[in-house]
Amino acid sequence: MENCKQCGGKFEITSEDLTHLSQLSPVFDGKKFSIPSPKKCPSCRQQNRLAFRNERTLYTRKCDLSGKQILSIYSPERKEIVYCEECYLKDLY
Ligand SMILES: [Zn+2]
Repeated sequence: MENCKQCGGKFEITSEDLTHLSQLSPVFDGKKFSIPSPKKCPSCRQQNRLAFRNERTLYTRKCDLSGKQILSIYSPERKEIVYCEECYLKDLY
């Protein structure tokens, strides 16, 4: 059992969790960069994800490629590059 760094509650990291993290860890140039095991319990992790991800507000802004007016979860002031779906798919293929 582990102690959550946020709430102090106990949580378990199973061998399946560790196998999963190992499978997700990226390999660059033959070197594996291991994803560390979690320091917070599942509900604190979920709470943190919800605090950082905007899933409730939509903004109107312009596509950074075509200039078309679009709806986005990123406000116009944010510095991320946001494409409309058409430009996004064009860029992929
Ligand atoms: Zn916790």
